Amino acid sequence: MTDMWESKLSCAIQCSKCTKAMKKSDERILSAYDHNPICMECKRIEEKRDDYEKVSKEMIGRCMAETEVMYGDPGGYCYHHFYPYKC
Ligand SMILES: [Zn+2]
Repeated sequence: MTDMWESKLSCAIQCSKCTKAMKKSDERILSAYDHNPICMECKRIEEKRDDYEKVSKEMIGRCMAETEVMYGDPGGYCYHHFYPYKC
């Protein structure tokens, strides 16, 4: 239960934004907007959005609230909005 999000999301085989295929060894990070795994290119685009700073500030609280029901360990999951990781 604790790491349910890992099997569901962390090893996504494609970017949820641009649908580019991602290999297990490719770094990915979670979108501050919808908490889905995206590629690093999409993250760079996301970071240029006007509301990114505001959204990313509120993101942890929102992520915890929105994913607590779905995933056992929202803290560990939400952490990856800031830190790129590999599958
Ligand atoms: Zn992408």
